[in-house]
Amino acid sequence: MSSLLKFLPNSLSQAVVKSYFTVQTWRTVGFRGSHSIPDFTKLTTMDVKILPALQDNYMYLIIDKATKNAAIVDPVDPDSVLAAVDEEKVNLVKVLTTHHHWDHAGGNEKLVKDFTKNPLEVYGGDDRIGALTKKVVDGDTFKIGSLNVRCIFTPCHTTGHICYYIQSEQEGVVFTGDTLFSAGCGRFFEGTPDQMYTALIDKLSTLPDSTKVFCGHEYTASNLKYAHHVEPENPDVEQRIQWTKERRDGKLPTVPSTIGEEKAFNPFMRVNEKSVQEHAKATDGVSTMGFLRREKDNFKA
Ligand SMILES: [Zn+2]
Repeated sequence: MSSLLKFLPNSLSQAVVKSYFTVQTWRTVGFRGSHSIPDFTKLTTMDVKILPALQDNYMYLIIDKATKNAAIVDPVDPDSVLAAVDEEKVNLVKVLTTHHHWDHAGGNEKLVKDFTKNPLEVYGGDDRIGALTKKVVDGDTFKIGSLNVRCIFTPCHTTGHICYYIQSEQEGVVFTGDTLFSAGCGRFFEGTPDQMYTALIDKLSTLPDSTKVFCGHEYTASNLKYAHHVEPENPDVEQRIQWTKERRDGKLPTVPSTIGEEKAFNPFMRVNEKSVQEHAKATDGVSTMGFLRREKDNFKA
């Protein structure tokens, strides 16, 4: 490149250098999570560092403020996890895997190998998860420092999907992987509408409304287009579209939402609402769930 620049007028060569580096920067950042700016949710007893990965995935570093012990959710990009652990000066002790898909569990083995400070316990509900050391089932509990974690089994997207609910006296957060997205839900690759109904309505909807929801992907804007199609008259959908546009214009994540908010604008959390059932031409929640998923699978905004 430098030999070429010798023959160009100064202003032009500067332009070439500039565009060359723009492309390089884009490539470097683009490879590792350029979809959003990393963000921090600071609570009373815990902090959650939001780490973008791949094209639209999120990894989450959960930090117990009392002990500085930490866990990482779905570490598909181990290098960026290790950088965050260094930066925050926390003791990484656990890996929480929501499900076995490559874009969630694909970094487990490398992280366990590269993190040499102490052995990591790897949690998950499916034997297909790499480096798994602690297989969990519904209702299992464990701790991250002083924080209490409860496993919520939500089979449907995959047969071994686990959501992790973390609770302290002051607050609660839930990591929902590809079961509950903001304004949407995961595809039913290995399950039925009945199972997603159990996951979203019987289980996740019964968590306190204030529970913060951290999901596996940044899909909110396109999910809301479908939500608007289902309920064009719902003002909460309208408001969330505006809010999401502002966040995404600044490349900020749209996580976390709360369980209460999801109940107001997420059609899959609203399958027992009359307006949503009417759209599905159904009279019960499970059939409505099945209709919405089929319709959304083919939906073009
Ligand atoms: Zn998945």
